Amino acid sequence: MSDPILGGCYCGKIRFEANPPVLYQAYCHCDNCRKAIGAQVVAWITVESSKFKYTQGTPKTYHTETTADRTFCPDCGSSLTYVHPDRSTHVDIVTGSLDHPECYPPNRDVFPEEKLPWISLCNQGRA
Ligand SMILES: [Zn+2]
Ligand SMILES: [Zn+2]
Repeated sequence: MSDPILGGCYCGKIRFEANPPVLYQAYCHCDNCRKAIGAQVVAWITVESSKFKYTQGTPKTYHTETTADRTFCPDCGSSLTYVHPDRSTHVDIVTGSLDHPECYPPNRDVFPEEKLPWISLCNQGRA
């Protein structure tokens, strides 16, 4: 699959384009993602930073206490991306912000030890 991966925020003011390969398709169960996104678990895809760009609008960046940068639309609040300096060549993109999230099912669980008790792991034991 070499077509660009398109996505954007809820209100449509921010649009982005990513390009394959998709390095990871994961659920993150960490406390920080849960709070930041406001969801019980967050699905992400990861691409090389050089293969990601905004094509419309400018997100707001929240610099977290763990030194990560989380971006979101300043108008509608949609979470869009996550970048951590420990792996600054990668950008994680919220799967739900993609135009076709159905194409990127998570196949691994990150921080499963922090998951809520009423959430099932997507792929137990087969990272
Ligand atoms: Zn928006
Ligand atoms: Zn997380």
